[in-house]
Amino acid sequence: MNEIVLKDEIIKLKKALHVSIVAHFYQKDEVFELADFVGDSLQLAQWAAKDENPYLLFCGVGFMGQSVKILAPNKRVFMPKIACCAMARMIDVGYFDQNIEILKAAGIKEEDILPVTYINSSAEVKARVGMMGGYVCTSSNAKKIIIEARKSNKKILFVPDRCLGQNIAIEMGLTSCVVGDGSDPKLSDILCYNGFCSVHQLFDVEDIAFYRAKYPGILIVTHPECKPEVCALSDFVGSTSQIIDFVQKLPKEQKVAIGTEYNMVKRLRNENTYILSSTKPECPTMNETSLQDVYNALKSIQEERFENEITISEETRKWAFVALSRMFEL
Ligand code: SF4
Repeated sequence: MNEIVLKDEIIKLKKALHVSIVAHFYQKDEVFELADFVGDSLQLAQWAAKDENPYLLFCGVGFMGQSVKILAPNKRVFMPKIACCAMARMIDVGYFDQNIEILKAAGIKEEDILPVTYINSSAEVKARVGMMGGYVCTSSNAKKIIIEARKSNKKILFVPDRCLGQNIAIEMGLTSCVVGDGSDPKLSDILCYNGFCSVHQLFDVEDIAFYRAKYPGILIVTHPECKPEVCALSDFVGSTSQIIDFVQKLPKEQKVAIGTEYNMVKRLRNENTYILSSTKPECPTMNETSLQDVYNALKSIQEERFENEITISEETRKWAFVALSRMFEL
């Protein structure tokens, strides 16, 4: 089938089967254009949880589909492809518990640790955080969550993105360390798990120097998953949605170099908008989803094969919901 026929078939099937399609900002254009709703991970989960169609096709990565299932357990959530966020895969419950043991060995009692997990983590990790009284956060509300979490007077264990944890610590004038890096965690306010996003690690201070030298007056915009030294040299640091909002409000003639995922920046582009990298910073797993995968997923629903369905045990869902709800309450 050529692309036009494939698109037509997808539109017909989704209507006939009562399936909604959502797509993250980092998806390829052809998939992005077909979605009923597009957004960042939290926006997608919130929209999908309220959507009335019984079936949802989530074009994104695994933890995002899981977030919908945590919020709306009766909805049947499918992925065109089981794609996993590289950062979310850097931590599981075993690694989480290992970090707790390292902190205990350093003299910090478990009851004095309050975990905060970035939404880019599995349902199991969110559940473990929920059981320990902790919170989920996003890149746009991480500061607010940490302010609240610190009222407990406990040490904050921030998982899995060390860069987001370090960047928030710097913004708040707090100290941070990476668990297991040899430093004494008792001396730091925020103890970061050693995870990172391989895409946002691609941006460097040299890239900023290059663009500033080439285009005097250019604005540098980055995501808080970038390295602290990159964020420190940026004119604006924000979540995916905050970056879109910031860039769209700039005058067209303002030059701007953006340090985040390629597909999203490409859609924001005019002749004065640049990607802050000499390489193409595509998220490999986000880019796995194709139109053919979307079509195959719809056929699998139609033929009641129900492939790539997201399932979570009720015990895990319950505790992950607790951690997510603490964020929503704020
Ligand atoms: Fe995960 Fe990074 Fe891809 Fe986002 S861009 S889904 S954080 S690997």
